[in-house]
Amino acid sequence: MKLLLVGEYKNGNIDDSFYELVAFAGKLGAEAVAFFVAPTDIKPEFNGKVYIADVEKAKEYNPKVHRDLILKVAEKENPDYIVLSHSSYGWDLAPRVAYKWDAGQISEIVDVDNDGFVVPFCNAKLRRLLKPNTGKAVLTLQSGAFAPAKEGSASVETIDVDVADEGLEFTGFEIVEKGGVDLTKAEIIVSAGRGVGKKENIEIVEKLAKAMGGELGASRPVVDAGWLPPERQVGTTGQTVAPKLYVACGISGAIQHLAGMKKSNFIVAINKDKDAPISEVADVFVVADLLELVPILTEKLSS
Ligand SMILES: Cc1cc2nc3c(=O)[nH]c(=O)nc-3n(C[C@H](O)[C@H](O)[C@H](O)COP(=O)(O)OP(=O)(O)OC[C@H]3O[C@@H](n4cnc5c(N)ncnc54)[C@H](O)[C@@H]3O)c2cc1C
Repeated sequence: MKLLLVGEYKNGNIDDSFYELVAFAGKLGAEAVAFFVAPTDIKPEFNGKVYIADVEKAKEYNPKVHRDLILKVAEKENPDYIVLSHSSYGWDLAPRVAYKWDAGQISEIVDVDNDGFVVPFCNAKLRRLLKPNTGKAVLTLQSGAFAPAKEGSASVETIDVDVADEGLEFTGFEIVEKGGVDLTKAEIIVSAGRGVGKKENIEIVEKLAKAMGGELGASRPVVDAGWLPPERQVGTTGQTVAPKLYVACGISGAIQHLAGMKKSNFIVAINKDKDAPISEVADVFVVADLLELVPILTEKLSS
């Protein structure tokens, strides 16, 4: 089996998500080559061949140019799968590449199994196993699902940017204003999940965060319900954080939440369900009603 891994070059660096694609290839035991639109002197830590299209010519993003360059490499290498991150870059490119390559597409893969690729569905409550029946396919990988693998040094080949841009112009990336709090810098985060039950109970978790000298975080349902603002959200569509201590209160541990916090140094989870999936990543898992336990912890820490 052969893979073409499409890496991303962002803000002057190879994005670490590339090494998650490398780990995926390793897990499949597949041969892999890689492709980047980047400066031609980048040096990915990857044991294999890397094709680079000069970012000066192909621009940081232009869907049609990037798509056609990927297909140019695919024609040379004839991979079984073209693999991208499930990022805004990958989301936008994958279906364009699949359509023109006449291939199927499987999105948001979180694991591999002998029989195929594991993909969450039903709001990540369930997982299904998918196998492309098109022979070749374009795959996107959920961020954080595969631990990055850095290995060796690549042999680099530059490819010509000789594809038409069809009238599109790259005007730049816009950085979204994050609001008042930057969770990525916090050393301690105490997060509230749907298990808090109602908006008025957020205060219980907020008091614990304050008593610990940490920041208040949240899972997505808490933000969707308007109990906390979006800049507090941890997860794939929120912040990716890696504090020294992460305390999850009433959070089940859906893959989209885990992707944003599982690299935390030490994880404490409080949940009344002993089988909650967050127990799989927690260093300390407390089976308790947070409405009872959290005020006691806050009081102990404050006295
Ligand atoms: C494309 C997409 C992107 C997403 N992005 C994100 C994201 O960025 N971040 C994110 O968090 N989610 C995200 N989600 C949603 C995600 O799939 C889950 O639905 C969400 O993380 C669940 O949040 P939760 O754990 O707070 O709620 P639930 O899954 O409802 O879990 C609540 C937990 O609280 C426990 N509980 C209930 N009462 C108590 C109590 N009194 N004491 C202790 N424990 C209690 C329950 O046992 C349960 O485990 C995304 C989903 C999709 C489809």
